[in-house]
Amino acid sequence: MSEPRIHDDVEEVLLTHEQITARVAELGAQLATDYADRNPVLVSVLKGSIIFLADLVRAMDVPLAIDLMEVSSYGAATESSGQVRILKDLSGSIEGRHVIVVEDIIDTGLTLNYLLRYLEDRGPASIQVCCLLDKPARRLASIEIDYRGFTIPDRFVIGYGLDYDERYRNLPYIGVLRPSVYTPAAE
Ligand code: 5GP
Repeated sequence: MSEPRIHDDVEEVLLTHEQITARVAELGAQLATDYADRNPVLVSVLKGSIIFLADLVRAMDVPLAIDLMEVSSYGAATESSGQVRILKDLSGSIEGRHVIVVEDIIDTGLTLNYLLRYLEDRGPASIQVCCLLDKPARRLASIEIDYRGFTIPDRFVIGYGLDYDERYRNLPYIGVLRPSVYTPAAE
């Protein structure tokens, strides 16, 4: 019997590891230039963004700090309000600091919209947004994205930190799942 391979569940590779690596290097270099003397705090949201964050900071050869939050949506009924619950708060103060919010993907924008208001209340000197993937088709909240890796079509993607049911985060590329994975009757 052969070993299960997560790659076998991928219908299509949207962005290869090489494409992601090259783009993350560009984003890191741009951020390092723009934030050279500002000792920024990169605030990331668990868990999807950690792989992007880990690669991004290693492409930034400037002093910086990292902080992590975890949020969960209140569920389908209240999702459209963008109300989210903070499961893990910042561990340090961001008052007077230059904050870069590092996100894996912006879809409706509701989560980030809530998060930005939450962070703004904590008195940072500035806040900018850096996302790897922008999926503008379903946007409900208008968000200014300062640094963007890729714009992608309206498809559910996995890999490079992004999961389906907690799986596939460890794929080194961004792909689209086979429909049979989430609708087994389809095959
Ligand atoms: P938003 O509030 O912008 O609709 O949702 C943002 C969050 O939804 C992301 O941080 C991510 O956790 C999840 N999400 C949105 N689109 C996708 C997708 O295509 N794939 C995966 N794995 N998660 C997604």
